[in-house]
Amino acid sequence: MKILVINTGSSSIKYQLFDMEACRSLASGLVERIGEPAGLITHAASSVNDVPVTKVEETVIADHHTGMMRIVDLLVDPHHGVIRDKSEISGLGHRVVHGGETFHAPRLIGQEVLAAIRDHIPLAPLHNPANLMGIEVGQAVFPAAPQVAVFDTAFHQTIPPEAFLYALPFELYSRHRVRRYGFHGTSHAYVAERAAAFLGKPLRELNLVTLHLGNGASMAAIRHGVCVDTTMGMTPLEGLVMGTRSGDIDPALPFFLADHLGMSFTDIDALLNKESGLKGMCGTNDMREVLEKEASKDPQARAALEVYTYRIRKYLGAYYAVAGPLAAVVFTAGIGEHSPAIRERCCRGLAHLGLELDEGRNTEPGNEVRDISVPRGAVRILVVPTNEELKIAEETMKVLTAAEPAAQASTSCS
Ligand code: ADP
Repeated sequence: MKILVINTGSSSIKYQLFDMEACRSLASGLVERIGEPAGLITHAASSVNDVPVTKVEETVIADHHTGMMRIVDLLVDPHHGVIRDKSEISGLGHRVVHGGETFHAPRLIGQEVLAAIRDHIPLAPLHNPANLMGIEVGQAVFPAAPQVAVFDTAFHQTIPPEAFLYALPFELYSRHRVRRYGFHGTSHAYVAERAAAFLGKPLRELNLVTLHLGNGASMAAIRHGVCVDTTMGMTPLEGLVMGTRSGDIDPALPFFLADHLGMSFTDIDALLNKESGLKGMCGTNDMREVLEKEASKDPQARAALEVYTYRIRKYLGAYYAVAGPLAAVVFTAGIGEHSPAIRERCCRGLAHLGLELDEGRNTEPGNEVRDISVPRGAVRILVVPTNEELKIAEETMKVLTAAEPAAQASTSCS
């Protein structure tokens, strides 16, 4: 069974084609700058006769439909393609950012699901319209293939009211759906499952804290295998310090910015989402550059790293309290997977919580799931490479084979 995973942004389509029987990615790519004067397509076929093939194309891509047609052309191309005909694709799995309280699990897309995704646009005004466009284009280009929506928010739907409600007039929740939703759910769910497999225990028996540290960053507290709290909130702005987002601030700060600096809502929104975080504190949102700047004694980079890692340690403490005795703390995404220095600083001084990094294991490079804690450590510290696309493909296959127990048994590649 071949599944095409689609992640549509307002001017881009990211795609990856999986052969689920072989548990293998066949091709992946990115169509970007859609609707701009010069579009760009980067396509990589994982292997054609075992030789990786990549193709970069600069061309005008008028709209998402044209972009999707180009993806099909590349997938069936005699030189850069991996399939003979688009009919080989059994289904499409779409990343959808916001499923609100409606979606606790992936769903086969029909009119009702489309209407519900549309209904959640006020909660994700930038993402859901683009995701919807991707679905509509997917349906137009692959009319025979069933399509499945996999929601970023779904994994966090088990969070209890005391953790998802804000202390605001209740009507804001009951009428306007103001609450914590959380994001990066597909990644948190994927690494939690991989961690459980690595530890050789059923996930439902484990308490974990997962740290997704990429450009966006969030943590999840997982108790008995289900999410009980997460750092992102109603929007992805809350919580940890991120590449360009502030994370937690005093909610009164926007009033100060408006009253004293004359900033508009638009200015404040841009400031907190695009000009803050690591970038705001020290001029770059690339963690490698922040670490380099700190090594050359830049005081702002130092401060940025201290605020970044202090916030994580603070939430680790909080999540010990809510998730109970932990089996493991799991690092993932660009920074979590690749930066021993940040992992070390996140765990520094937490031996009393059972968190002790092994310096050698932490600095050893690797692309597999690995344990970087000292052998006697009470809590395992794991690095688990995330793979949101694979998780979306697995979830899509699960939905498509729900009525076939034999096929269900083989939906996991993890
Ligand atoms: P996105 O949220 O855009 O998917 P990623 O998960 O790719 O982000 O993570 C991007 C972040 O990972 C950037 O801050 C980048 O600097 C950081 N990163 C990648 N490799 C390393 C590394 N070797 N050391 C430190 N940071 C790294």
